[in-house]
Amino acid sequence: MRIAIIGGGMTGLSAAYELTGKGHSVMLFEKNAVLGGLAAGFKEANWSWPLEQSYHHWFTNDRAMLTLLRDIGLSEKIILKRPVTATLWHDLPYQLDSGRHLLLFPALSPVDKVRTALLLGLLKLNPFWQPLESLSAQSLIRIVGGNEAWRVIWEPLLQGKFGGYSNLVAASWFWARIHKRTSRLMYLSGGFQTLINTLERRIQSSGGVISANCVVTKVFPEKRSGSFILTTNRNGRHTADRILLTVPTAIAARLLPLSYPTPIPHLHAVTLVLETKQPIMRRTYWLNITDRSYPFLAVVAHTNFIDKRHYGNHHITYVGNYLPQDHPLLSVSAQQLFRAYVPSLKRLTPRFSETSVVSMHRFIGYAAQPVHELHYSRRAPTLATPIPGIFLANLDSIYPWDRGTNYAVELGKNAARAIDAAR
Ligand SMILES: Cc1cc2nc3c(=O)[nH]c(=O)nc-3n(C[C@H](O)[C@H](O)[C@H](O)COP(=O)(O)OP(=O)(O)OC[C@H]3O[C@@H](n4cnc5c(N)ncnc54)[C@H](O)[C@@H]3O)c2cc1C
Repeated sequence: MRIAIIGGGMTGLSAAYELTGKGHSVMLFEKNAVLGGLAAGFKEANWSWPLEQSYHHWFTNDRAMLTLLRDIGLSEKIILKRPVTATLWHDLPYQLDSGRHLLLFPALSPVDKVRTALLLGLLKLNPFWQPLESLSAQSLIRIVGGNEAWRVIWEPLLQGKFGGYSNLVAASWFWARIHKRTSRLMYLSGGFQTLINTLERRIQSSGGVISANCVVTKVFPEKRSGSFILTTNRNGRHTADRILLTVPTAIAARLLPLSYPTPIPHLHAVTLVLETKQPIMRRTYWLNITDRSYPFLAVVAHTNFIDKRHYGNHHITYVGNYLPQDHPLLSVSAQQLFRAYVPSLKRLTPRFSETSVVSMHRFIGYAAQPVHELHYSRRAPTLATPIPGIFLANLDSIYPWDRGTNYAVELGKNAARAIDAAR
C-alpha cells in the first residue's frame, strides 16, 4: 500500500518505521527542516551533541521506548541517572523527590506530610485511572492530601501549567503524572536526535521517502480510484491509499475536507534555553516553581543531569512555561523573553549575571499541552477519522498519559498496525 504520513515527529517516524518494515511504500512529509517535532534538537557550533528544544528525558518504565531502542541497536547508548528534583518555597529550592525529603520539607506540618505521602502512595499503587476521570485533580488532592499541601505545592503547579483551566483538570491526569514517574531518569548519548536520525536512516533504507521542509496543505479523497490526493507547499501532488496525520488536531482539521471537531483546549509550551558560563542552579536538575509571582513554571538544568562537556563546557538551563493562545509572550523574541525573566532568575539565583549568557534560544511547542478535563477519554480524537482510510494519531489521543515520546512510539506502532490491518 502507498501510505502518506504527515508529520515527522516521534509518532510519524515510529509509524513509518513500522510500516516500511512491513513492506509498505511510505512517504513522510515534515514541515520543518529537521525531523523530530517536539523532541527535535538543535546545536551550537561549540557543542558536540545536539540538544532538545525543550527539556527531555525518559522514565525507566518507558517500555515502548526501551523496546524501540533495543530494536534499532541503541540500548547501549542509554544514560541512566538519578538527578535532583526540587520544589521552590520562599525563593529556595527544596529537594522533594523521596519520602525522606518530604519529611524534611519545612512548608508542611507532620500531618500534611503524612497525607501527602498517602496521596502519592495511593496514586503510585492504584492501577485504575478510569474512575478518576469523573473527579477533578483539585478535589482528589484536597480530600486525600489536604488543603495545605494543595495550597503550597499543587495549586500553584496546576495554575502555572493550565492557567484558567486548572480547576477543570481531571484527577486521572494527575494520576498519570504521579503513577508513571520514576526517580531514575534516562537520556541517550548524543541526545534524542541520535534516535531520530537512526529512525530516519532505517526508514530510508527500507525504501521510505522522507520529505523535510515540506508543508502538506490539503488532503482530499479521489472518488474514482478510492485513493487520496495530498498537496504540498512545494507544488507537490501525491497519491496515497492511506493517510496518517500526526499533526496537532487543529492542523489536521484544516487539512481535511470536512468540519472536524477539536473540542479539546490546548496550551502552547514556551521554552527559553540558556547556555551560560556559570550554572544557574548548582545541584538541582528540575525545579518546580510553586510561586506564581514568577513568570515561569519550571527551571531545568540539563547539565545537572548530562555532562556539560558535550555543550562546550557551558551550562544549559531551560526555563519552561505554558501559555494560552494570544498570550503576549508567545510572540516575543528570545531576548525579550529573557528580559522578562531576568528579575525572577536573579531572585532565584542572586549571583546570576546576564554577562554569563553565551547563547539563548526560544522555542514554541504549538498545542503541546492538551487540557485533560473531566471525562477526557470521551472527547479525545480516535485513530479512525470520519473519512475511511484517513487516520489521526497525535498527543491528544494518548490519555490517560500526559504526553511523551514513549507514548508517541506506542501510538505510531498502533497506528501502523491499524493501517496495515485495514488493507
Ligand atoms: C516542553 C516539553 C517537554 C517535554 N518533555 C518530554 C520528556 O521529558 N520526555 C518525553 O519523552 N517527551 C517529552 N515531551 C513530549 C514529546 O516531545 C512529545 O510527546 C512527542 O515528541 C510528540 O510527538 P508527535 O510526533 O506525536 O508530535 P509532534 O512532535 O508535534 O510532531 C508533529 C509533526 O508534524 C509536523 N507538521 C505540522 N503541520 C504539518 C504540515 N502541515 N505538514 C507537514 N508536517 C507538519 C510538525 O512540524 C511536527 O514535526 C515534551 C514536550 C514538551 C513540549
